[in-house]
Amino acid sequence: MPPKKEKPKQLGNAKELKEKLYKEPVRTWDTLSENERKQAFDYAERFRIFLNAARTERKAIQVFVDRASKEKFKELSVRSKGSKFFQSMHGKTLAVAVIGRKPLTEGLRIITAHVDCPRLDLKANPLYEDSGMAFLKTHYYGGVKKYQWVARSLALCGTIIRGDGSVLDVHVGLDPDDPVFTIPDLLPHLARKQMDQKASDFIPAENLNLVVGSTPFHDKDADERVKLALLELLNKKYDITEEDFTSAELQVVPAEPARDAGFDRGLIAGYGQDDRVCAYTCFTAAMETENPEHTAIAVFYDKEEIGSEGNTSAKSRFLETFIMDLMEKTGTQPKARDLYRVFMNSKALSADVAAGLDPTYADVYEKRNSARLGYGINITKYTGHGGKYMASDANAEYAAWIRKLFNDNAIVWQAGGHGKIDEGGGGTVAKFLAVTGVDIIDCGPPVLSMHSPMEISSKEDIWMCHKAFKVFFNS
Ligand code: MN
Ligand code: MN
Repeated sequence: MPPKKEKPKQLGNAKELKEKLYKEPVRTWDTLSENERKQAFDYAERFRIFLNAARTERKAIQVFVDRASKEKFKELSVRSKGSKFFQSMHGKTLAVAVIGRKPLTEGLRIITAHVDCPRLDLKANPLYEDSGMAFLKTHYYGGVKKYQWVARSLALCGTIIRGDGSVLDVHVGLDPDDPVFTIPDLLPHLARKQMDQKASDFIPAENLNLVVGSTPFHDKDADERVKLALLELLNKKYDITEEDFTSAELQVVPAEPARDAGFDRGLIAGYGQDDRVCAYTCFTAAMETENPEHTAIAVFYDKEEIGSEGNTSAKSRFLETFIMDLMEKTGTQPKARDLYRVFMNSKALSADVAAGLDPTYADVYEKRNSARLGYGINITKYTGHGGKYMASDANAEYAAWIRKLFNDNAIVWQAGGHGKIDEGGGGTVAKFLAVTGVDIIDCGPPVLSMHSPMEISSKEDIWMCHKAFKVFFNS
């Protein structure tokens, strides 16, 4: 008789095993109580209002500074007292901090987001007249599909510094009673050649010219009557001349407000969610943080969309300076060595949006590694493109720490990348902070139509990001 075979030990049936062993996507909605679903929608409404108020990086920073001041945050200076501080730089970069119970040298909890968005900037000599109309010439900022910017209503937002140094804020096209601006596109009847061109070519950058006027100056014998009439109007209204365009930062942005999308109102559709959705969720998380163990810092950068170049970007030394000021404030004489020790003991999140899986274009995504709208905050262990070039790749130990933090606090999360390896890719500010030795990982909500004039995000994910950032600040 052959020996009796040992029956293999059953761990459970297939369903039980799967639950135990698989990492399956979790729909955020299913984890929320009726009350929390309502909270999530109310929160998204406040975000939507912010999005409409903050069409430029300067506006976003201004909204945050005003709110922080109301919440009793003090502008960081030699004299300022308390445990909540903020500091802004050039009106386009901001850090807010809530001092923790432990000394700074034991590490910080840092979240970064960026407040600049793809758009069209005006050139230095933008105004001209042609064929009886006045136009402004633009130069696109960041990764835009140029064809998305023609034949739609646009607003002009930004700041002009006049010759005498006085500041003028311009926001035209956002109020329903305002005029709007637009970039004409060619009529289909004459577009045969245009339609045969590649999408990257059929709207040349030099064709992104904004119509801004059409009424001539009263003197029939004058040259360039429309341009002249327009400059006269601008001079009367704003006290500016043509030269003032040279010291201006004027941005052409979509005029229409962000709206709820879908019959069920579960999505938000609107301009500027990359990355103001993370800026808002992390800023409000900082406002709601009280007496954390580690000092919590939220940083809002400019110029991420053009590679973090310039003195308001993540490549600037702003954060280092802010932390050294905080060290001094909390009783440590800051030395460069101590500063980098602080960074090496710190944990950071680079909060930025992820490329949400769009089922209509499923072929450019790798389905198993793409974030889906409504399935929680997305963790991107590494960014970059083919071969991990230009990547910020978080350490496994740190990824494990984040995963545990989220799991222990009922944060619904998913792990996705940036589409198929050889289709493209992208980066965030993470790599510029990583050089300090800080542990940093990318995370944020997935969005559809990223970088378009109408980006789409899910209210479930917005809520989960806000919760995740609060949990992180209190870790
Ligand atoms: Mn971004
Ligand atoms: Mn972007």
